[in-house]
Amino acid sequence: MTLMIPFDNSFARLPSTFYAPQAPSPVKAPRLVAFNSDLAKILQISTGDANELAQVFAGNHVPDGANPIAQNYAGHQFGHYNPQLGDGRAVLLGETVGTDGVRRDIQLKGAGRTPYSRSGDGRAWLGPVLREYVVSEAMHALGIPTTRALAAVETGETVVRETLLPGAVLTRVATSHLRVGTFQVFAARGDLASLRTLTDYAITRHYPDADGPMGLLRAVRDAQARLIAGWMSVGFIHGVMNTDNSSISGETIDYGPCAFMDTYHPDTVYSSIDRNGRYAYSNQPDIAVWNLAQLATSLIQLFEDQEMAVEEATEIVHAMPALIQKHWLTRFRKKLGISSDQKGDLALITDLLDRMAAQNVDFTNTFRVLGAGDARDQFVDPEAYDSWAEGWAARLISEPDPQITMNRNNPAFIPRNHRVEQMIAAAVDGGYTLFHRLNAVLATPYDDQPDHMDLTRPPAQSEVVKATFCGT
Ligand code: AMP
Ligand code: MG
Repeated sequence: MTLMIPFDNSFARLPSTFYAPQAPSPVKAPRLVAFNSDLAKILQISTGDANELAQVFAGNHVPDGANPIAQNYAGHQFGHYNPQLGDGRAVLLGETVGTDGVRRDIQLKGAGRTPYSRSGDGRAWLGPVLREYVVSEAMHALGIPTTRALAAVETGETVVRETLLPGAVLTRVATSHLRVGTFQVFAARGDLASLRTLTDYAITRHYPDADGPMGLLRAVRDAQARLIAGWMSVGFIHGVMNTDNSSISGETIDYGPCAFMDTYHPDTVYSSIDRNGRYAYSNQPDIAVWNLAQLATSLIQLFEDQEMAVEEATEIVHAMPALIQKHWLTRFRKKLGISSDQKGDLALITDLLDRMAAQNVDFTNTFRVLGAGDARDQFVDPEAYDSWAEGWAARLISEPDPQITMNRNNPAFIPRNHRVEQMIAAAVDGGYTLFHRLNAVLATPYDDQPDHMDLTRPPAQSEVVKATFCGT
């Protein structure tokens, strides 16, 4: 093996309540379909040939220094507490400290059954693996915190879902896989020693300046507020904002039935399992606050003076909506070419969004062409745009470089659902051209790429993806 990963594992040194030792289960015929060599360089991985990469990132060969485990966690799923989840189909190989000094997890997703699998098969099929690869890397390129994709491997095996489907393994990289649900599992059991250990670990790893559990709560709140504002600004709908999918680091994690909106409407839902729209586009800020409240509920157990702890935690959580709003305003101001701060800005932005919703315009394209002065063509009734644009033009007079600001904050390219579906359908038939093309184009989403304008086109009526499905 010439492939070397300089593992430096810290989580696996914690007491065994936090995980179960679990080697990945080998697969029949691993075939490498993608390897992210830019990310590998950051992780200080010295790469081998395609066959070696396939062996390692399928889980057939566990590299030296790895200490494979499945992590323990619980979580609220659609508002209902599930006391035992855990990595049912993921194995954490270990951690590396990158060239940037950042410690990151390297995890195989779809690596076989674990003690937390319950009735699941521990596997993933090719579709969700490629979807997560493309969408998480696109998110990174958009400048929004996210887990990343290091590799995708076909297993040469089939998995049984509604039909037989090709199996695959995704290698996911995250600054950690600590979730709100990682805290909940110990808090719910009243295991305060583990909860304290976990809190110290999370502070050391993510927020070394945070002062105790309340400092951690505040830091997670700030990171999550920034994240949610980022999602809103690019029309991203996570789809399963359960507390087990809510990262302590403030990264986007668990790309299941996620989607970028085409036509703008605040009530948009894609996930087939989200029947009540709990995780609809415009509900995401409220849900982030709800999730933080679950973390708060766990952390207050660490205090002797419960009354004071509840008071402080409540204050921290209650400040979150205003924080999200602040980041949201900054993001949307920039989308309109505004870098300064004036009182009427909120009204200006919401007025545009209301008109966009009423006119069924494409979210991404409308913002992108604002800078070029072509946005009125997006509206069925251009008058609705014109009457708004007068006020906007007046506001821009005092702005130095609105055009540049707009182009840096309104992507031309997002991973559109219909393209992602086309990409998956082609890959199932062995065609990876669109997969590689999407990755290449989405790596620079704010650049005009005249040869790839077809990827900016919204879906035709027949191409519209109405529902997305969980990645299981
Ligand atoms: P997710 O919807 O991916 O956030 O997963 C929710 C829970 O279900 C986690 O505990 C997963 O590990 C588990 N899970 C999802 N898919 C599978 C599978 N195919 N086999 C075993 N466990 C799974
Ligand atoms: Mg999950």
